[in-house]
Amino acid sequence: MNTPLSWINADLHCHSAVSDGTLQPEALAARAKANGVELWALTDHDEIGGQQRARDAALAIGLPYLTGTEISVTFADTTVHIVGLGFDADDAALQAGLSATRGGRRGRAMDMSDGLAKVGVKGAYEGALKYVGNPELISRTHFARFLVETRVCADTSEVFRKYLVEGKPGFVPHRWASLRNAVNWITQAGGLAVIAHPARYKFTPTEEYALFTEFIAHGGRGVEVVTGSHSAADAIRYTDTALEFDLLASRGSDFHSPDESHTDLGKLPALPARLTPVWDALEARIQRPS
Ligand code: AMP
Ligand code: MN
Ligand code: MN
Ligand code: MN
Repeated sequence: MNTPLSWINADLHCHSAVSDGTLQPEALAARAKANGVELWALTDHDEIGGQQRARDAALAIGLPYLTGTEISVTFADTTVHIVGLGFDADDAALQAGLSATRGGRRGRAMDMSDGLAKVGVKGAYEGALKYVGNPELISRTHFARFLVETRVCADTSEVFRKYLVEGKPGFVPHRWASLRNAVNWITQAGGLAVIAHPARYKFTPTEEYALFTEFIAHGGRGVEVVTGSHSAADAIRYTDTALEFDLLASRGSDFHSPDESHTDLGKLPALPARLTPVWDALEARIQRPS
């Protein structure tokens, strides 16, 4: 694979214990640095409470940093994730939007627990809470950890397959932020919005086209091409999509945990040379060690 001139080992997607990762922001910064990452962003789900710690830890070890988050969105009755990069973390509208998006998680988690109880998995809400680092951010991942602990399943991917995806007993449909709002919160705070891991969504071609065109109409500018959630074939496919829609390309491991994630921080293929990386457009937003 050719290496673009603007190539750096950027990892712009991962999670800390402030959402559903298992490591603290400081430990992630150290791990990113040790793995050769040259530009890093922590992108917790619907939450920017870890940004200051991530930035301080990164800059202290000489690692350039971009602010980040991953917003849960409902589009065409499907959950889509929008990554925001390089925004002002003090922006009041962004903070309020993220807070509202987090708001429904507790009730949803109690409904998930009720669904699991009906198939004999008792006490899942309390069990999941043991793994939660941020009380506002209980996610399916925390339930998955509890079901592995209690040996209902061998690993978290088996839990998702059998219990936590649409049609399974622990799945509760949920309405997240609108695409328009998520993109606006990010861009009006000075950031750049990116469609996360597009290969994960089960859209028809028509729905996918609508996602990309509406995203761009709202001001979205990037798409993840190389991510821990994509196969090599997915990356090729979304390279074409990025070129077709004239989108900037992003790259990120989506690392959550040393025990669960198959892609470690910084350990993923380069972006194809034909693409323009998101970091070319975020130069002024990168925070650098002094
Ligand atoms: P939630 O925001 O509560 O719906 O949880 C979504 C999170 O669950 C994602 O960000 C992933 O961390 C995790 N997840 C989703 N699908 C899977 C899967 N098939 N296997 C493992 N983890 C998954
Ligand atoms: Mn997650
Ligand atoms: Mn995601
Ligand atoms: Mn993610």
